[in-house]
Amino acid sequence: MKFHTTDKVHLFMPKAALTTVFDECDEFDRDETGGRVIGTFEEQRGKLAVRVTGIIEAGPQARRSAVSFFQDGAYQEQVFRRIEDHHPEIEHLGNWHTHHVNGLQHLSDGDIETYSRTVNHPNHNAPFFYALLVTAKHRSSDPLGRYTLKHYIFRRGDERIYELRRHQVAVVDAPLIWPATTKPNHDAPDSRPQSHGLRANPNRVYDKDILSEFYRGVRPFSSAKLGMYWRGPLELLDGSHVEVVLLEDSAAANPTYTVTLREPPAALKSLAEEIANVEFPSARAALITAERSCNRALYRQYGETRRLDFSA
Ligand SMILES: [Zn+2]
Repeated sequence: MKFHTTDKVHLFMPKAALTTVFDECDEFDRDETGGRVIGTFEEQRGKLAVRVTGIIEAGPQARRSAVSFFQDGAYQEQVFRRIEDHHPEIEHLGNWHTHHVNGLQHLSDGDIETYSRTVNHPNHNAPFFYALLVTAKHRSSDPLGRYTLKHYIFRRGDERIYELRRHQVAVVDAPLIWPATTKPNHDAPDSRPQSHGLRANPNRVYDKDILSEFYRGVRPFSSAKLGMYWRGPLELLDGSHVEVVLLEDSAAANPTYTVTLREPPAALKSLAEEIANVEFPSARAALITAERSCNRALYRQYGETRRLDFSA
């Protein structure tokens, strides 16, 4: 058999991490999906303890089908670097993805090949790679009983693949550091300082949800000079596109956002100048307002054009 057992590995999995994974599975019940697993680990006298502390989402450019799944690695790395700023102890532990949509009960040959390569790659810090696989969906009223999971460990320089047994996985009450929206556990009040950059602005999470869902081309970036910003093409009602930049000003207690239309067409020029001076409470508010204003301006312009055509 392809998979081996080991008694040298213990995994600590927060309930909140399972909830994050299962919520994502509920959303993609026909296509494979997944994400990155982050956390910490200790190795003592040959025993490895792996603690999951976060799940990074697949990202806005992830590609999914019933038999394949490609994550948005650039986006995930950006998220990872941001988390790392505040949690330098954080490691990329591995990946999770789903097979319940195609019935495959184990890692595929392709998965194995990829993870074996990853664990032996010099850029992979941890001496192991953890793979969480979702293999079956259940009708369960227990939110943590919605799916069946398998847990695998690949070790650097070791050709065997280890499948963890049930008693090696402890499901624990612990808060996640990512996604940042995870509600703190009532038994364990969140004691982290509120100045924490990732936590301080829940707006970013809502922005990300709305923008990645409805404005696929507009993506988050961060730079030393500009800080956090969003940029991408905004599609307008006539099928044209205008490039937008949503810039976060996080100096104040409540960050504000401004929107810039880059090289706007003549019909949108005066609107672009006006809207650049408005401060919005969130990136989504800035973008939605910009979209409506642009569409209104275009609509008016076409109305006038039509009347002109009519009279000719
Ligand atoms: Zn797979």
